[in-house]
Amino acid sequence: MKISIIGLADDRFNRPLQLIANLFFEESQILKAYNEENDVQIKFTLKEEANVSVSAELKDSAGNIIYSDYQKEMLPSNSEKERFKQIKNAVAHVYLTVLQDWTKITQKWGILTGIRPTKLLHRKVRDGISSELAHQQLKDDYLITDEKIELMQQIVDRQLTVVPDLYSLQEEVSIYIGIPFCPTKCAYCTFPAYAINGRQGSVESFLGGLHYEMRKIGEWLKEKGVRITTVYFGGGTPTSITANEMDMLYEEMYTSFPDVEHIREITVEAGRPDTITLEKLEVLKKWNIDRISINPQSYTQETLKAIGRHHTVVETIDKYHLARSKGMNNINMDLIIGLPGEGISEFVHSLAETEKLMPESLTVHTLSFKRASEMTKNKEKYKVAEREEVEKMMGLAQVWTKDHGYVPYYLYRQKNILGNLENVGYCIPNQESIYNIMIMEEQQTIIGLGCGAASKFIEPSTGKITHFANPKDPKTYNDSYETYTEDKLNILDEIFSKKSSLA
Ligand code: SF4
Repeated sequence: MKISIIGLADDRFNRPLQLIANLFFEESQILKAYNEENDVQIKFTLKEEANVSVSAELKDSAGNIIYSDYQKEMLPSNSEKERFKQIKNAVAHVYLTVLQDWTKITQKWGILTGIRPTKLLHRKVRDGISSELAHQQLKDDYLITDEKIELMQQIVDRQLTVVPDLYSLQEEVSIYIGIPFCPTKCAYCTFPAYAINGRQGSVESFLGGLHYEMRKIGEWLKEKGVRITTVYFGGGTPTSITANEMDMLYEEMYTSFPDVEHIREITVEAGRPDTITLEKLEVLKKWNIDRISINPQSYTQETLKAIGRHHTVVETIDKYHLARSKGMNNINMDLIIGLPGEGISEFVHSLAETEKLMPESLTVHTLSFKRASEMTKNKEKYKVAEREEVEKMMGLAQVWTKDHGYVPYYLYRQKNILGNLENVGYCIPNQESIYNIMIMEEQQTIIGLGCGAASKFIEPSTGKITHFANPKDPKTYNDSYETYTEDKLNILDEIFSKKSSLA
């Protein structure tokens, strides 16, 4: 789809216009000039005074014309960025409206293309805005549908029930630990995940670096009296290392981190059932880790084969029971909607199998075509469901979880996600993962240790976010973990000293 845009010279509009076009069309191209061969042209007029007034006129090659206009009061802004954001949102408003009218597709998230929609509602709650007014604003300013606003509200309410001090946890941190190994690489995966076989040397050096990072960061936290809210071991698959290596890693955590007994939650992703053994479950239990993930993704064997998961459905079920028998009492399971070759019947089957297990939480993902994945590179090889079917499956997940006593407690969206839907974490009330809430709502610093671990530093006094990424591949990590640790300690010193100088 080629779209001519006329009347918006500022290049800062290019990306938001492209992101919104991507919600409607698989392949689209925005061109800033009129060309007869383009499928559609949209002419904007923009005026900025006390109000920002925008209109858009869409004309397609068949001569159909669709018009929309919008006016909004300009609020005082502290920066050019904030000022432009208001104008950009007004432009997005009319742009989305003409595209919706033209394609007859309603975008349930309106003009929002970001990853964390619930943050918007949290901000309004923090500002003391009543829910009625907040909902009206979400509808008027962003064109979000009632259905999604209701979902946002449910999630925000749940998060504040589970973490009543969510808005005052800036002076604590959470820790993410990335173990970059898996038994094999799944086709849709873009995580740092390296097939573990034949890499024992590299695994050992990596763990040496990781222990170093844990010690150094732990020392800093103890020295500054900064507490840890949650710890999350992800990756890769943190249970792909040996039971003995896991044991030493958790021992390091207990020795190096401050006050581990009072950490609210420690999770270990055991995502791939083929990595779970009796011995490893015993190690988890020994260190009081009882929140794990065992991820089926699908209960259809052919699908698992097609996406390169190399484990069986039976293995998922067996390992789940084994984990239960070893006292794991908070198990999350992930399902993915829209995996290649899957439609409603396969998804209904996955839900029926889930019913037999009843994990404490169920995270329902919608397949996303991430740029670097094998699946995206060979898109033609993988046949996936149409938008309507994906939406129906999401609806089924909503009804099924509700009927089985689960509540939604976090959500996030991704770019190029099938049907422009979302990923939703559901759980049996009071079994929520606090780490997932922390990572989504960006209320506190998350320190990333290990390979590919992304840190997000949030200045306690201003809320300003600084991103920092550890290297993704084990070799670079092994060569440079000391420098990366040093860099993180410097950032921590800086942002936490601002807090104490204000106190
Ligand atoms: S198990 Fe998870 S991290 Fe490992 S390759 Fe598959 S999707 Fe990626």
